[in-house]
Amino acid sequence: MRDYYIRATAANGQIRAFAANTTQMVDKAAKIHSTSPVASAALGRTLTAASFMGLMTGNNDDLITISIKGDGPIGGVLATSDGLGRVKGYVHNPQGNTPNKPNGKLDVSAAIGFGHITVTKDLGLKEPYAGTLELISGEIAEDIAGYCFQSEQTPTVLSLGVTIDKDYSIKQSGGFLIQLMPGYDDAIVDQLEAIMTGFPSLTQLLDLGETPETILDLLLAEFGYNITEKNEISYYCDCARHRVKSAVMSIGTKDLSKIIEEDGQAEVTCHFCAKQYIFEKDELEEMLNSSR
Ligand code: ZN
Repeated sequence: MRDYYIRATAANGQIRAFAANTTQMVDKAAKIHSTSPVASAALGRTLTAASFMGLMTGNNDDLITISIKGDGPIGGVLATSDGLGRVKGYVHNPQGNTPNKPNGKLDVSAAIGFGHITVTKDLGLKEPYAGTLELISGEIAEDIAGYCFQSEQTPTVLSLGVTIDKDYSIKQSGGFLIQLMPGYDDAIVDQLEAIMTGFPSLTQLLDLGETPETILDLLLAEFGYNITEKNEISYYCDCARHRVKSAVMSIGTKDLSKIIEEDGQAEVTCHFCAKQYIFEKDELEEMLNSSR
């Protein structure tokens, strides 16, 4: 089954919610970057959250980037989504590892360490908007929900889960996000807190075979809700030779000449999909001439 998300509104528009299955996008990301299990979990959680935040921008061309940097073994993770929830991302040290927690779970918090989260929104305006906060736990869901609350004053419940198979492929990945919209009743907060108390973790829900639809039903049934959207989401890199070419040209004529003399060609690898772009000497010389 392909990955998909559903969007819903509840409590007469006071709540907006998303739930998604992201197993394939995270498996693709883990294979591209050959991530360790804990790095796969960190990347998968961040990709899923980025997808939700991309969908929330409400405009297909908008871009949102979540960058988490820490002093732990994986160094941090970056994920970008467009307004359709299509994501790409990477881990700074994909092979970084940590011992599991005493309960056998992957220790994402220790793998990330202490650090910061930065969320950048490029909404097609002149300057992208960026906000940075200290990490709360390094578990990612808590850090991103904390960012939404502190930076955008939007009470947010975010739950993310990734489980890894013995062969390091992604067994299951998914998440849900619930936000209270401006003007919400305080009673809704109490009601939501009561639901969330003792609510199973996302990995438990996935192990039980719950789907985005049944998860949102468990969360929102008592508020009355409508599913307003259901669409596929995926890991998607939009890199292209012409864009890589302008990036190479932007290093300037001096460095370009140096590459031509010393290496005779340029090899550029996309951070997000690992695609290689090779520029031979002839092409580099043409690029040098046209940028003079
Ligand atoms: Zn790419």
